[in-house]
Amino acid sequence: MTKETTPRQGKDQLKDKVEGKTVYLKNSFEQDLKKAHEFHGHICTGIIFGTRIARIGLNHLGIKDPAENKDFIVFVEADRCIADAVSAVTGCTLGKRRLKWFDYGKMAATFVDMNSQKGIRIVTAASQQPTDDMDLVSFWNAIADEDLFRTEEVTIKLHQEDLPGKPSRKVTCAACGEAVMDGRDLLLDDKILCKACANGAYYQKG
Ligand SMILES: [Zn+2]
Ligand SMILES: [Zn+2]
Repeated sequence: MTKETTPRQGKDQLKDKVEGKTVYLKNSFEQDLKKAHEFHGHICTGIIFGTRIARIGLNHLGIKDPAENKDFIVFVEADRCIADAVSAVTGCTLGKRRLKWFDYGKMAATFVDMNSQKGIRIVTAASQQPTDDMDLVSFWNAIADEDLFRTEEVTIKLHQEDLPGKPSRKVTCAACGEAVMDGRDLLLDDKILCKACANGAYYQKG
């Protein structure tokens, strides 16, 4: 899909979307929510928000069908329900290197065009709170995107060693002998080391 045939999100389209109509996306909200539900195992506020955030992001990038146009990367800022929804709706996964996780503990995600390195960051800013007896989907459906999320246009400097494709570099750690891909090695006292050996690992042996 080329840039010319994928219209960008403009003010008019945003209005349409806020009013419950989605102009450019191939899937309906219900179809995307179903995907997220199936992937995650239940429906919760995080899944609903993540689904909506993913749809705002795709709309912004002018991506009608994320199965067709894969020239984008998603950054999530929490390892919670929202990350599963964003991944299920966009098809971006860690293994494909199109899902990046920053451990900020925020209900936020950024969608960036791999070519232009420009995109949109979307963060939840909901002040409403459903009670236990409420149907979550209809509760949140009644509230417009602009009342639930804040968006900002951003630029992300993408590095070659972070992009999909073959590993750009592969070395052996001088201390543990394990292979390290993608330039994640460090040089310490002229020795090539993995991060675990250089900085201490997240695990202890034994
Ligand atoms: Zn959940
Ligand atoms: Zn090592």
